[in-house]
Amino acid sequence: MSDIIWKGSPNHYVGRNGYGVTHITLHIMVGYLAGTDATFANQSSRASAHYGVGATGEIHQYVSELDGSYSDANYASNNSTISIEHEGGMADGAVCTQECIDASARLCADIARRYGWKKLWHDGLKGNVWLHREIPGTDHLSCPDLAPNGLPYRQIIDQANRILEGGTMSNAGDEVWNWAYKPNGKNATPGGNMYNLLTYELPQRIRDSIMQYSYKGSAPGGNVYNTICFEIPGMLKQLTKTIETQQKQISELSEKISKLEEATK
Ligand SMILES: [Zn+2]
Repeated sequence: MSDIIWKGSPNHYVGRNGYGVTHITLHIMVGYLAGTDATFANQSSRASAHYGVGATGEIHQYVSELDGSYSDANYASNNSTISIEHEGGMADGAVCTQECIDASARLCADIARRYGWKKLWHDGLKGNVWLHREIPGTDHLSCPDLAPNGLPYRQIIDQANRILEGGTMSNAGDEVWNWAYKPNGKNATPGGNMYNLLTYELPQRIRDSIMQYSYKGSAPGGNVYNTICFEIPGMLKQLTKTIETQQKQISELSEKISKLEEATK
């Protein structure tokens, strides 16, 4: 993703200590993005995450995905996760905004794509999306969803999955070519389908729709004939009459003006 702002943090492992990336961990800041920037920049906090998403949808990155972060209070998870913090979680202050949720969904979908995960799902520690509170070792028991104004994580997962599903449309040519046109309930061969549809089916449908057009409830087919032969000439006659009347009015007006000009000489 091109709109991620690199912030950096000194708080991370170098590499992943033999672990591979297996999941995303979702967190809530219980505060604002700026405060998280400051905490993660401070070495003595010993805290970090890979990403932080703010209320405007701004995404900050603190740790490279090549390194484990100090996010989950669990050595194995720290080394095998990509952790995402979200602005919000305060009863009277920072809340989760739709912009934050949208940006997080895009980020999660992007991560899933890059690691070859077809979809995201949460199922305790069995899925590829983990909630911080479910990871052994943490005392953040309301992170990310149980805090006041906590993270609606299902919405993020669902939205990310819709983005991932949309990605299967990348080869639209194949979809069109393999589309099953079924004349008389039979499935013609791919490709031939499109040819048949464009060559035979479409012209017939257009012809039918013209012939069946119901002009003032008269007989189909006759409709078109009646429209062209009677309705249109009638409209033209009316239009001609209107123009003739207007021309007459203009002539009368010109005459009046001429007379006025004569009188003032
Ligand atoms: Zn957390």
